Amino acid sequence: MLEKQRLSTPREGFLNITHAVQDAVSRSGVLEGQAIVFVPHTTAGVTINENADPDVPRDLLLGLERAFPDRPEFRHAEGNSSAHLRASAMGSSVTVFIQGGALLLGTWQGVFFAEFDGPRSREFLVKIVQD
Ligand code: ZN
Repeated sequence: MLEKQRLSTPREGFLNITHAVQDAVSRSGVLEGQAIVFVPHTTAGVTINENADPDVPRDLLLGLERAFPDRPEFRHAEGNSSAHLRASAMGSSVTVFIQGGALLLGTWQGVFFAEFDGPRSREFLVKIVQD
């Protein structure tokens, strides 16, 4: 089963999509398998990180801004090369195992859509594979 889901994003930030992914798993009826989340964008990505303390995604943003600042040497005419760098650092897909119909995430983990060049209307794909 392949699902496309849409979301509206802020200028930048980590949007918790864990429940949306779990809902796709539940709709599929798959009890044992894998959920693959893919983001078809070049200035947004997807990552798994702490879901408990909202300061963690905030600090991730600060760290990425420090690691990938805008630079005058960048040549990409659209002017958003740092957003491309941050998206590549996060990656375009994550895979989570499914056990008993539930995402097999760690206690503190959540799945986050990472926006670096919003606000935009974005989408992500969820593929549920049965073992
Ligand atoms: Zn660009």
